[in-house]
Amino acid sequence: MIRGFQSVTVTRLELWGPETWLLCWPRSFSFLAGQVVILTLKPGGAERIFSLATGVREPEAGVLFNLVEDGELTPALANLRPGDLLWVSEPFGSFPGLEGPAVWIANGTGVAPFVSMVRSGLGQQKVLIHGARKLAGFLGRQELENLPGLTYYRCCTGEAHELVFSGRLTEFLEQRSWAPSQRYLLCGSAPMIVEVRELLFRKGIPFSHILAEVFF
Ligand SMILES: Cc1cc2nc3c(=O)[nH]c(=O)nc-3n(C[C@H](O)[C@H](O)[C@H](O)COP(=O)(O)OP(=O)(O)OC[C@H]3O[C@@H](n4cnc5c(N)ncnc54)[C@H](O)[C@@H]3O)c2cc1C
Repeated sequence: MIRGFQSVTVTRLELWGPETWLLCWPRSFSFLAGQVVILTLKPGGAERIFSLATGVREPEAGVLFNLVEDGELTPALANLRPGDLLWVSEPFGSFPGLEGPAVWIANGTGVAPFVSMVRSGLGQQKVLIHGARKLAGFLGRQELENLPGLTYYRCCTGEAHELVFSGRLTEFLEQRSWAPSQRYLLCGSAPMIVEVRELLFRKGIPFSHILAEVFF
C-alpha cells in the first residue's frame, strides 16, 4: 500500500461531456464538499489531484475528469473499466462548501466541487456561473438547472442557445453588479481565476471574499 493511499475498485466510468467522465468507486472515507483527492494507477506512477464531485453521503465517491490527450494520467483513467484497481488518497483541502449565500464561478471541470456541494445539500442561496466552449461542455447541467435555491447561468463562447449567455463568463460578470458582502468561490483554470479575481476586485469585492481552487 502507498502511504496515505488505499486501493479501490472502479464501479463506473460515466461519460458527462466531450472527453469528460465521472469516475466512481465505493466511498470508504468521510469528506467535506469542496475537498480533493490524489489519484494514481500504480505505486510510483503519475499522481494527480482531482476535486470530489459526488455528495458527502453518497455510497460512491467520484471525480469528474477531462482527458488531456498528451497527459500522463488522464488517458489511462479514460481506459479504466468497472472492476479495475485505482489508488486514492485521503481527501484533503479547504475549499469551503458552506450554507448561506455565495456566488460560484467555474469553467470546464471546475464545476466538480459545486456539483458535490449541490449533491451534499448546500445548493440553497447560491448563484452558479459556468463557462464552457461548447453547449455539451456544461457538465452536470441536468442536475443543476431548475434546482430550487440555485440560480444557474451558462456562458458559452463557441455555440449559441437562447437560454445561454453568448460570450465568456468574464463578459457576463462585467455586465452586472455584484454584492461585496457575498462570498465568491472560483474553480477552474489558472487564467480564468486570475482574470475573475481581478475583475471582482475592481468591482468592489474585498479579496477576503474571493476564494479560489486552481486546476493546474
Ligand atoms: C487542486 C486541483 C484540483 C483539480 N481537480 C481536477 C478535476 O476535478 N478534474 C480535472 O479534470 N482536473 C483537475 N485538476 C487537474 C489534474 O490534477 C491534472 O493536472 C489533469 O487531469 C492532467 O493530468 P494528466 O496527468 O493527464 O496530464 P499531465 O501529464 O499533467 O499533463 C498536462 C499538460 O501539461 C503538459 N506537461 C506535462 N509535463 C510538462 C513539462 N514538464 N513541461 C511542459 N509541459 C508539460 C502536458 O503536455 C499536458 O498538456 C486539478 C488540479 C488541482 C491542482
